[in-house]
Amino acid sequence: MKDCLFCRIAAGEIPSDCLYQDELVYVFKDIAPQAPVHFLVIPKEHMDSAAAVDETNSAVVARAFEVIARLAREQGLEGFRVVSNVGESAGQSVRHLHFHVLSGRDMTWPPG
Ligand code: AMP
Repeated sequence: MKDCLFCRIAAGEIPSDCLYQDELVYVFKDIAPQAPVHFLVIPKEHMDSAAAVDETNSAVVARAFEVIARLAREQGLEGFRVVSNVGESAGQSVRHLHFHVLSGRDMTWPPG
């Protein structure tokens, strides 16, 4: 999508600290990290949020979680949290599906 920040990052039009990419997903460090480890996993094809996942596009979600598990293993993450905010009231500020991966500090539950 032309005016979507994360579409432009995945396309290489806006610089990012890329950790991994393949034909389906793009992974990069969050610009405002909320933990010592904080990266984002996004589909290269635009989807507004997790609420847009259906049987036609869910393969990218499976890939995202395969990549998350692999990167967590490679980075030696002992524990980590995967978060996807959906909608403004849940804290979504960028309307392109993304999974936050956070690690490197103790976390509380429930989240705020
Ligand atoms: P959310 O608020 O759940 O939609 O998450 C959006 C995330 O994108 C936030 O954690 C931001 O810090 C992050 N973010 C925004 N712009 C950039 C950027 N140019 N590069 C990396 N991360 C970004």
